[in-house]
Amino acid sequence: MILLENTPLAPFTTFGIGGPARWFVEATNEEEIAEAAAWVQEHGAPLFVLGGGSNLLVSDAGFNGLVLHVGLKGIDDASAPDQPEQTIYRVSAGEDWEHFVQRTIEDECAGLECLAGIPGTVGGTPVQNVGAYGQEVASVIERVRAYDLAERGFVEFSAAECGFSYRRSRFNSADRGRFIVTRVDYRLTPGGAPTLRYADLQRAFPGGSHPTLAEAAALVRRIRQTKGMLMVEGDPDCRSAGSFFKNPVVTEAELKRIAARNEKEPPRFPAGAGAENAGRVKIPAAWLIEQSGFVKGYRLGDAGVSTRHTLALTNRGGATAEEVLALARQIADAVEARFAIRLEMEPVMVGF
Ligand SMILES: Cc1cc2nc3c(=O)[nH]c(=O)nc-3n(C[C@H](O)[C@H](O)[C@H](O)COP(=O)(O)OP(=O)(O)OC[C@H]3O[C@@H](n4cnc5c(N)ncnc54)[C@H](O)[C@@H]3O)c2cc1C
Repeated sequence: MILLENTPLAPFTTFGIGGPARWFVEATNEEEIAEAAAWVQEHGAPLFVLGGGSNLLVSDAGFNGLVLHVGLKGIDDASAPDQPEQTIYRVSAGEDWEHFVQRTIEDECAGLECLAGIPGTVGGTPVQNVGAYGQEVASVIERVRAYDLAERGFVEFSAAECGFSYRRSRFNSADRGRFIVTRVDYRLTPGGAPTLRYADLQRAFPGGSHPTLAEAAALVRRIRQTKGMLMVEGDPDCRSAGSFFKNPVVTEAELKRIAARNEKEPPRFPAGAGAENAGRVKIPAAWLIEQSGFVKGYRLGDAGVSTRHTLALTNRGGATAEEVLALARQIADAVEARFAIRLEMEPVMVGF
């Protein structure tokens, strides 16, 4: 393990914002993960696990502890022992997500085609149960392997043990900071049809058109690009952490209260599976933000609302973390004043 000091973190994030890490380690195998974990325990230093840096806002002061960059690489695939017509991909946590999704599409394995074009690493996907355009990783994750900082050893979890729900898992809730994910196994379906649950996909591929996985993934990437949600070199709208706020999940009574405060009916979507979502609906945070007076391209200093999607906050060049937070607070305060609902931030705050 090579221990670096005072390593700038901004280049490791899609926002391009943040001060240095006091210590920094790049781990390329499980031994180095265990070694870094032992080092922080011995030195009493805080630990932050860094993947692709696409869901983070790092403070301007940086992180006064050890940042462990997960760089484990490798993708294996084999028939599922219980269902040979399915394929299990065993993927090391440091693999680039988009690279892995593209590989599954070339292999004509269904299950991840709607998650094309999302930045970050494989290890980051179970943490917030990454989802988009009608799919979530929860529905295809078979196992997650991780280092347990509390028990000082490697453990494996089934999907049921990961506690997945909307943008949530045990890794970002009850057990936040306890596990370092080293490998994720996904169960995919060779020759399967793409998932066409999302309205834009259904419109583009009406019944009977039978698109391939590659065509569905290409459309998802095109839609993402029109919203500035695809990492494209030189596109200022993708200097972001994707959606900055979660879509609020509310009860029917709360929905009525929100509707009563506005002339237009709030759009709504099913809140998703899970007992905790029974009788609830999801309201687009972007709609609440727009109805509260914010327009695409709105700026506060060098931080701004994306010019293509109200839900993404962007670094318009030289923005500080404080500027992004000030803009986020201004938006959340306005939405709360208007609709009496507090938006929750989606990115992870580091070093605040
Ligand atoms: C343009 C853009 C579009 C996006 N679109 C979407 C979208 O459609 N849907 C969606 O869900 N997300 C989206 N995101 C957010 C982000 O891409 C995902 O959350 C991604 O999975 C984060 O992975 P990462 O490796 O970059 O994690 P990081 O940003 O590095 O870390 C995020 C969190 O995960 C933890 N973590 C990362 N790796 C590990 C590991 N190996 N072990 C333990 N903890 C770990 C970190 O400690 C941190 O708490 C988007 C982001 C951008 C910039």
